[in-house]
Amino acid sequence: MNTEALRELVEEIPDFPEPGILFRDITPILSTPPALRAVVEHMADAVNRHAPDGIVAIESRGFLLGSALALHMHLPLLLVRKPGKLPRPTRRASYELEYGEDALEVHVDDVRPGHRYAVVDDLIATGGTCLASIELLRQHNADVAVAAFLIELSTLGGRHRLDTPVASVLLYN
Ligand code: AMP
Repeated sequence: MNTEALRELVEEIPDFPEPGILFRDITPILSTPPALRAVVEHMADAVNRHAPDGIVAIESRGFLLGSALALHMHLPLLLVRKPGKLPRPTRRASYELEYGEDALEVHVDDVRPGHRYAVVDDLIATGGTCLASIELLRQHNADVAVAAFLIELSTLGGRHRLDTPVASVLLYN
């Protein structure tokens, strides 16, 4: 399935979850097997070029694509989660939201120092979520080979906040 067909499956929901946000709903892709396969193959092609040692998936829609990608690429899968979800010792990075602040955590002993990871999420907007994930990995002396997304909202400039290569399947202006 080509990228134009994938784009047609992404639903645009105005004013969700709050007024002024145009939410990009990827669930029609998840419920269309050839579409999900195409997404994984497009992302794997882009990620493979950077030869990462593992996939780091960001909660929560990043888990869906990250786990499929890790399976497809035969790579270890690590989770970056919202605070209080991971049961073993964690490290935390905080980041700014439009209103207020949030944080992400990773299991300390899941991250291998010296490894280069592909960070995966469904969408990059301002880049804050991905930036916090990159910071977490670097706190463990690991690094990021590439940040990979299904969707990039290019007008929000997220990719310019990251000092890593960025790969996205669908670009929206
Ligand atoms: P950001 O940190 O601004 O790059 O936001 C990225 C995170 O917020 C991702 O985990 C997305 O799932 C979610 N997100 C932000 N904006 C949207 C949007 N317009 N539609 C769907 N998800 C979004």
